[in-house]
Amino acid sequence: MTARSRAVDSLPRVGIGTDVHPVEPGRPCWLAGLEWPDADGCAGHSDGDVAAHALTDAVLSAAGLGDIGGLLGTDDPRWAGARGAAVLAHVREVLASAGWEIGNAAVQLIGNTPKVSPRRAEAEAALSAALGAPVSVTATTTDGLGLTGRGEGRAAVATALVVRTTAPAPVDSVR
Ligand code: MG
Repeated sequence: MTARSRAVDSLPRVGIGTDVHPVEPGRPCWLAGLEWPDADGCAGHSDGDVAAHALTDAVLSAAGLGDIGGLLGTDDPRWAGARGAAVLAHVREVLASAGWEIGNAAVQLIGNTPKVSPRRAEAEAALSAALGAPVSVTATTTDGLGLTGRGEGRAAVATALVVRTTAPAPVDSVR
């Protein structure tokens, strides 16, 4: 890598995360840190909260710390049925111990159900509390197209901004 200025290396870093899970009729729906009694949940090793998982990948990505598969393991029994909030609290600790603080994050839910807007503030509060940083929640549909449009699955895309809490690493070791 060519030389980078100290000013550039002290800038916040962005990351991105995506998650998709199949909808499983009859399973409790946990999404964006909340339970949605009127919607079917998502299948998955944990609680299937695509919003929490996309946010987890976004903050890991921003810090250059890999992804959720490496953080939790896809079949680790400790995370069986784990709530999204617990996953977010864990990734927050991982980042802190690696010298990163989360500035903010945003997640967009993609699916037919549940209708998010009436509980947006509640979802933002739940995710923000778990992550220790402001989290914005938005939602959209795919107008009947694809796996989300057919109601077969639910997806989420997230971004996050992180800042170093320790001195930047020497330029030649920056990833
Ligand atoms: Mg997932």
